[in-house]
Amino acid sequence: MKESYEVIVIGAGVSGLYTLYRLRERGFSVRLLEAGTGIGGTWYWNRYPGARFDSESYTYQYSFSEDLYKEWQWSEHFAAQPEIERYMNFVADKFDLRKDIELNTRVASIHFDSTDRSWEITAEDGRKVRAQFVVAATGLLSAPQLPDYRGVNDFAGLTIHSARWPKQKIDFRGKRVGVVGSGPTAVQIIQTIAPDVGQLTVFQRTANWCTPLRNRPIDAAEQEGLTARAAEIIQECRETFAGFMHNLDPRASTEVSKEERLANYQKLYDQGGFALWFGNYNDMLTNKAFADEVSEFLAEKIRQRVKDPATAEKLIPKNHPYGTKRPPGEKNFYEIFNQDNVELVDLRATPIEQITASGVETTESSHDLDILIYATGFQSLTGALLRIDIRGENGLTLQEKWSDGPRTQMGIQFAGFPNFFATQGPHHPAAFCNNTRCAETAGDWITNCISYLRDNGYTSIEADPAAEDAWTKLCYDSVKGLIIENMQDSWFFGNNNPELKGERRFLLWAGSVPEFHQLYADVAARGYPGFELR
Ligand code: NAP
Repeated sequence: MKESYEVIVIGAGVSGLYTLYRLRERGFSVRLLEAGTGIGGTWYWNRYPGARFDSESYTYQYSFSEDLYKEWQWSEHFAAQPEIERYMNFVADKFDLRKDIELNTRVASIHFDSTDRSWEITAEDGRKVRAQFVVAATGLLSAPQLPDYRGVNDFAGLTIHSARWPKQKIDFRGKRVGVVGSGPTAVQIIQTIAPDVGQLTVFQRTANWCTPLRNRPIDAAEQEGLTARAAEIIQECRETFAGFMHNLDPRASTEVSKEERLANYQKLYDQGGFALWFGNYNDMLTNKAFADEVSEFLAEKIRQRVKDPATAEKLIPKNHPYGTKRPPGEKNFYEIFNQDNVELVDLRATPIEQITASGVETTESSHDLDILIYATGFQSLTGALLRIDIRGENGLTLQEKWSDGPRTQMGIQFAGFPNFFATQGPHHPAAFCNNTRCAETAGDWITNCISYLRDNGYTSIEADPAAEDAWTKLCYDSVKGLIIENMQDSWFFGNNNPELKGERRFLLWAGSVPEFHQLYADVAARGYPGFELR
């Protein structure tokens, strides 16, 4: 690594690799720093059993290279983590990105030096590098969060957080395994390890509306069609509300008879993926009565699939309707609870009191375990940034700036932090977005912006504080009128984020993917209003 670069990118995940590719294409000297020993970001760290896409593989892939579409063939409609990690490595090799990536380099601090208006980036091992621009491609769900239970470090068996899964295979056979959590990650782990374990105990605080993923291999004929239509599929995704290949029905649920609605729910349920969510009527996110009806449709499925009525009731969400959180995609998840060796512990009724050397103690019972898995999610959106010591002008820390919740201009810059960009920090449309589609938009915007500065004799860009206030307000306002407005128990609201101290904050922008794309394009076309260029 040299002493200085024009741009330092942090993170070799979907958005970091893409931004590196784009910046290099424009001739910038750029180095990418990555904490892991390999590339892939989310798809490197989340190597837990059952990890896979929840969006169709061919809608999640990169869109920038026709050659790439033609050369890479997905084996399944919803590819699993090992294949996705191979894809990320294939992309890095194909575009010769590795030579500009520094692995094993966890960034500890990023400090702005006002004397020469550059950034000093220091790794945990003490290495330092300087850059005019920093792009934090550090991810939105990448700072794992453990619960703060008494004794959380006391367990004598194997403790694993889902996002820090070891590379070596874990033998679950005959083991007593506990899983804390019931989000999309927990569901994937539970349904994958259940056939192997000796005894499985699921510690569930909030049930979720899981729907069948309907994954299957891609056969040769399908493959031919998918390769031929690759660009078209990505274009379709750019035009749908959430960047998936499912498009909202042009009709509201109220325009359709109940009989027709119920038949439609069944059709979408059979289709799989996010079809029931984003292929449904266009008032999915705004009409509670409609969301409740879909919820009741799903509750009936759970009752049919889970033999013990009391267990079925515990698995039916009671505090949020369908569509207000990202729904886990499942396969045989509910049937797992019919196995004699699987126990569901309802943490709302009997909370965990402490973790002990031998396992988990709730207010009612003790559970001796060999392996304890935390699928407890992340310090979402802000965590990856706040865990780095980032200091802008006049030594202002990001922790200080965001002590009352994040403030950003378009989710991409923060006033007081010149030439610092985030690809997927707070205030992005990540709640509903197919990640790669939005990551590419952010990567393009940043690359075009830095190129614009260079080509027009500017050396610096910084969010304008008034524009930042307006954008931050817009993000809070974007949730008004949506059913999720009055909910606070999901990562959209940072429910696991210690810096929010339990305060209610919507951490995203709840607009559509086409609006996001258009808004970013307009600001660039108009010479970056809302930003101060020097
Ligand atoms: P999550 O949705 O935030 O779920 C975390 C789970 O842990 C929740 O069930 C939560 O319960 C529970 N939990 C947290 N703290 C707890 C505590 N102190 N005690 C007991 N339970 C606790 O995290 P995730 O499942 O990792 O998924 C995060 C997001 O990643 C998803 O929404 C999705 O966008 C993405 N994801 C995608 C895929 C994919 O297929 N591509 C797979 C996995 C994840 P509460 O609900 O009660 O807080």
